[in-house]
Amino acid sequence: MDLFEYQGKQYFARFGIPVSPGGVASTVDEAVALSERLGYPVVIKAQVQVGGRGKAGGIKLAADAGEAREHASAILGMDIKGHVVRAVWVERASDIAKEYYASFTLDRGAKAHLAMVSARGGVDIEQVAAEDPAAIARLHVDPFLGFSPEQAHELVARAGLDDEAAEGAADVLVKLYRCFVEGDADLVEVNPLVLTPDGRVHALDAKVTLDDNAAFRHPEWEEFAGTVELDERERMARKMGLQYVGLDGFVGIIANGAGLAMSTCDVVNQVGGMPANFLDIGGGASAEVMANALEVISSDTNVRSIFVNIFGGITRGEEVANGIVTALGRVDITVPMVIRLDGTNAAQGREILRSVESGKVISSPNMMDAARRAVALAGGVQK
Ligand code: GDP
Ligand code: MN
Repeated sequence: MDLFEYQGKQYFARFGIPVSPGGVASTVDEAVALSERLGYPVVIKAQVQVGGRGKAGGIKLAADAGEAREHASAILGMDIKGHVVRAVWVERASDIAKEYYASFTLDRGAKAHLAMVSARGGVDIEQVAAEDPAAIARLHVDPFLGFSPEQAHELVARAGLDDEAAEGAADVLVKLYRCFVEGDADLVEVNPLVLTPDGRVHALDAKVTLDDNAAFRHPEWEEFAGTVELDERERMARKMGLQYVGLDGFVGIIANGAGLAMSTCDVVNQVGGMPANFLDIGGGASAEVMANALEVISSDTNVRSIFVNIFGGITRGEEVANGIVTALGRVDITVPMVIRLDGTNAAQGREILRSVESGKVISSPNMMDAARRAVALAGGVQK
């Protein structure tokens, strides 16, 4: 689960990481009132879960109420890389002497935590990694031993941060590691971590991804649930109780069970296609669930064919097939569809599917063959 910047900063604050005082506003009047309370200059920041907000015009300094109103009006409702700004974070503007970068993530390959610090902050870190990899100091942290103040100092020195920033930056790093571990995050990133002209170090931006698997021990995460950004289809699917994740490809996928849905995505890739989504309809495959799934998928204009991959278990093949037949009567499908039905009573199920088979609705008992046909019907392999 990704947090908005303002939520990330509130998370940081719980672990003692210094952030600027501020508040959230969803209307222009609220933003102005907040600015008045904080005192000028303030910075007004678009709250969307995408980087590069500054470059897109989503971050502006305001010196008085007039400017606060002007910038809040421009930023609220703004579209940044497909994300509409519904709220702004307003905070006291900081004077900046230097901008640095700091993060902790999990390095699965190394079975360790990975700390990264750079004196080249405030810019896209991927770009720094590509242009000048030596500018990022890295340190693997043994999760059983933890991260010591000595390691923090060593990392700060290796990254070449300014001497005035060393103490403050090392302190932030130690707290950031606690936030990462005790806060059950997959990623904590501060870009930029700033040094002010009077020698203080604090977090000017916050990117926090929480580990959903740890949600059971964080009842307080409930407050974030309502703010998770979903696209239109993800919202629609969530309401219908379907496990849907949108992807960038062109073959719509419906499968029962998360494992089968993942294998279906793999197989589509393997034969040269690209999945448009991951959709797990769960154990059953009633007409209603199938109709809902088809509705969600066919609302995606990138979808050029649909691959339905169902393995009958407790839900028998004939029930699945009846569900598909009824769903096809309810939802108007404009793209071709390939159905692979296997498992319990698959033969009876396939017999039932005959009534809907045509040049555009094809049944194939073999998963690989079905994937190939779905990709071919979508217009073939993507270049
Ligand atoms: P991002 O572009 O989405 O990563 O947004 P950031 O929160 O990192 O802000 C982008 C840039 O805006 C920073 O690197 C700073 O240069 C600038 N900025 C943000 N907050 C302040 C502030 O309080 N004062 C000043 N002077 N600049 C700021
Ligand atoms: Mn940033």
